[in-house]
Amino acid sequence: MSAGAAPAGGKGSTLEKYEAVIGIEIHCQLKTASKMFCGCSTEIDGAEPNSHCCPVCLGLPGVLPTINKSAVEFVMATGFAIEATVAESTRWDRKNYFYPDLPKGYQISQYQLPLAANGKLTFDTSDGPFTVLIRRAHLEEDTGRLIHADLDAEEPGTPADGSSKGAGRRVSLIDYNRSGMALMEIVTEPNIRTGEQARRYAEELRLLMRTIGASDAEMENGQMRVEANVSIRPVGREAFGTRTEVKNMNSMKAVERAIAFEIQRQTEVLESGGTVTMETRGWDEPSQSTYHMRPKEEENDYRYFPEPDLPPLRTTPEWRAQIKARLPELPAARRTRYQTQHGLSAYDAAVLVNDPGATSLFEAALASAAGVPAKLIANWVTGEYARLVKSAEGVSGGKVAAAELAALIKLVTDGAISGTNAKEVFAEHYASGTAVASIVEARGFRQISDSGVLESAIEEVVTANPAAVADYKAGKTNAAGFLVGQVMKATRGQANAAMVQEALRARLDRAE
Ligand SMILES: [Zn+2]
Repeated sequence: MSAGAAPAGGKGSTLEKYEAVIGIEIHCQLKTASKMFCGCSTEIDGAEPNSHCCPVCLGLPGVLPTINKSAVEFVMATGFAIEATVAESTRWDRKNYFYPDLPKGYQISQYQLPLAANGKLTFDTSDGPFTVLIRRAHLEEDTGRLIHADLDAEEPGTPADGSSKGAGRRVSLIDYNRSGMALMEIVTEPNIRTGEQARRYAEELRLLMRTIGASDAEMENGQMRVEANVSIRPVGREAFGTRTEVKNMNSMKAVERAIAFEIQRQTEVLESGGTVTMETRGWDEPSQSTYHMRPKEEENDYRYFPEPDLPPLRTTPEWRAQIKARLPELPAARRTRYQTQHGLSAYDAAVLVNDPGATSLFEAALASAAGVPAKLIANWVTGEYARLVKSAEGVSGGKVAAAELAALIKLVTDGAISGTNAKEVFAEHYASGTAVASIVEARGFRQISDSGVLESAIEEVVTANPAAVADYKAGKTNAAGFLVGQVMKATRGQANAAMVQEALRARLDRAE
């Protein structure tokens, strides 16, 4: 099944004639305290425009950049995490172009010699495991932000009212707070074939960035920007077709849909005898389609040359070894370990590893003294915990103490409380942080699981209800349900219902 990429519309036979060739470029804002080549703070969220700038990131004449060491280390760590070769020596290049958000008129980047090259990333898709080949990961600096506004509008971006209709004075504002922030660009080989593979790659890379702490990689606020180069070619042909570049995909879902749309659009262009134009296209979420933004620049338009203000960057073997040794357990290794060491399903392992909150709750509950099986903890974390986190609008459940979760699971496995009541206890613990034992006592949830106590209650019920017992012995098995109900009533609902059922049937079936 080629799920995911094929848009609806019965174009199956057409799609099979063509194969999509997709390469992905991802820019990640690195989680450094200061910018790439100056000491300006990166805490720009909610800051006044142009309050986090200095002569270096404003590109004023006569200033010199200095290299941010932790940005370099984040790219080295990413390189090791994707099994790439981390360069012993690299240098900086100037990428020249004019745009108002780029005050220097060039961006310092790595063109000839990326810091990391020839890596790969493997993940699951609906068609099974897939490996994306990664060509390079390199460092560069971010640009400023342009804001286009209408001076006569009551709010920027909204049309002016009737009186000044058509006379809106347009103005562009510039905020250089983002100028010079450290960016990592990661470029794949064009070995991706479907929108789903592209989305899964971006999701796995985001998880990797968060795991190694290189970036928060939130797509919504631009910390992670995904662009796709998409072309199609007849199946069996080596040469690539003309590609388009797709931008403005602001969610993982948009990545998959925009690429699927672009494959379908190009197929229709070729099938109707037209030619695909090399261009940059944007994804429009409301119409679920791509639109023409601008013609695509060729790389040589940028007139790259070595940056004269920075020396080449060398990484010693000791430094590289240190960065590699510092890597935490990576998502793929952790998923495998959860399956082999703890016997979890691939699905449970993936759900746990995808969410750092779930991962740490699972690990901590496992490490607590209760000695509860991993599978049961995984069920609670991927089930009730995930449900509560979701229902609380994504507020991370900081109030779940791992030891309390383990204690709760132990109460259920010991038969001290019912599974249904346990869910209520868990929800209350999640909301208030109150200890599980206190909630169980306060609500009177503790079950009677003492077999001696249960048997004497059963004996009383059997003696008091000879008619029902006779019915049961005459083959009316649902009479047992009535008798279980009587035992539950006699114990004010606190008997362990499963134990009562089992003991009652044993008592009734016993020959007299
Ligand atoms: Zn600065």
